[in-house]
Amino acid sequence: MVYYYLNIIMLKVWGEEVMVVKYKSTRGNNENITSAEAILKGLSKDKGLYVPQDFPVIDKNLEAIKDMNYKEVAFYILNKFLSDYTEEELKDAIEKAYDDKFENKKIAPLVKKSGMYFLELYHGKTLAFKDMALSILPHLLTKAAKKLGEQKKIVILAATSGDTGKAALEGFSDVNNTEVIVFYPAKGVSEIQKRQMITQEGKNTHVVDINGNFDHAQRGVKEIFNDDAFGEEMAANNHVFSSANSINIGRLIPQVVYYVYSYVQLLKQGEIALDEKINFVVPTGNFGNILAGYYAKKMGLPINKLICASNENNVLTDFLKTGIYDIQRDFLITNSPSMDILISSNLERLLYELSDHDEDLIRSMMHDLERKKKYTITPSMKKNLEDFYGGFSTEDETLQAIKKVYNDANYVMDTHTAVAYHVYEQYKKETKDASKTVIVSTASPYKFTKSVIEGLKEGNTENDEFELVKNLSTLTGLNIPQSIKDLDKKEILHDLKCEKDGMKEIVKKILNI
Ligand SMILES: *Cc1c(COP(=O)(O)O)cnc(C)c1O
Repeated sequence: MVYYYLNIIMLKVWGEEVMVVKYKSTRGNNENITSAEAILKGLSKDKGLYVPQDFPVIDKNLEAIKDMNYKEVAFYILNKFLSDYTEEELKDAIEKAYDDKFENKKIAPLVKKSGMYFLELYHGKTLAFKDMALSILPHLLTKAAKKLGEQKKIVILAATSGDTGKAALEGFSDVNNTEVIVFYPAKGVSEIQKRQMITQEGKNTHVVDINGNFDHAQRGVKEIFNDDAFGEEMAANNHVFSSANSINIGRLIPQVVYYVYSYVQLLKQGEIALDEKINFVVPTGNFGNILAGYYAKKMGLPINKLICASNENNVLTDFLKTGIYDIQRDFLITNSPSMDILISSNLERLLYELSDHDEDLIRSMMHDLERKKKYTITPSMKKNLEDFYGGFSTEDETLQAIKKVYNDANYVMDTHTAVAYHVYEQYKKETKDASKTVIVSTASPYKFTKSVIEGLKEGNTENDEFELVKNLSTLTGLNIPQSIKDLDKKEILHDLKCEKDGMKEIVKKILNI
């Protein structure tokens, strides 16, 4: 039995109703495509981002989810959003993604310290939360290509502020019929992040140091996507572009999983009652991670506030307070470099929801951002921002937070997680809200060793970063993750560089076009 209901197609499968979720652009390109098509394309032709037309809901009692392991929760959520994939395709992708690449069997362990909960999303190979989605995206993408009969070679482009790049390289390394090209700002990443990328193995991996910052790299990648002539030239040479950045909806949906998973872990451990609302604090850059939290809330997960934590590049803090997004300010390089971003791409997806899918309005605001470097949302959109709270942490406050939590709870946070911790302390002081709170921990302290030791010891450290890895282990007793143990001895395999306006040229050179 099949019946049509608004945009939602309900299929009756084995007695269970399955909602077929279709995707469209935030800027109203009149598309109505499947998740596989959206994942393969990455970005819409009208420059908008793909969004689900309707949100599936959590239709099981949360009590019934609490005994599921990470992979089972992943299947439950992905099967709802990616309803055009078969169960077998999803299960295969999930099995291949969340295996022993993760050093912790739970995949996303939840650790209670100092009265709050740290959701550790950094036990994958690259030591940052990007692994949560980028270990599955290559499987979703290659399955999408197969389903849709795409024969051309898929060229994955990624701009990175440090972590996406490595996770994309690792995920796509030697995946058949793909090339992966990563643009990173060498001056804006940690030594460990840089070394992880330039030692990457895999015949199809390419790493380019762009003379600029993350925003330049991201803009350049979007420009390549939107250049029709370039796309045609690629197609004539049997290549097609896709994206590994969180502009790709295939990056976002797998991130919804750990919000649900951590909630039911709290339930299982008796830390919260059924349907008790909790907060999540999310160290934010491109607004992808926190948006996945918002999607979880829209699915019905009992979330009170989503607390958006920024560093001194605090455009989002200002936006959440005033409703004005204004990028006319200096781009700062901070000790939480993965959040050094002024243009948070995924905010466009939030605006789409806040405006009740007003595509014309989104288009005009994005136009304002390009031309006037700012836009203002409407009062009714501002009202819909109540789900969020925004705050920021200075570099100093970040280091102090690392020291405080270490002294109080013998727990080592990386700088990004420390930003979240600081903003949460601010939030508690300001609001007196006593809801249980999860701090989304996005990177291992070993990825930002220099700053972490500066925080622990109060003061500059002159040693090279690889010495510091050993020092951090001696100091704290924390095991050194396998994947960086011999990083300093690995051969450097990539040395390409380009200027801000030279990205297309270098792509052609890499692909021999
Ligand atoms: C990417 C990243 C962030 C920011 O996440 P967004 O989804 O871009 O907001 C925060 N912390 C770390 C360690 C990251 O790698």
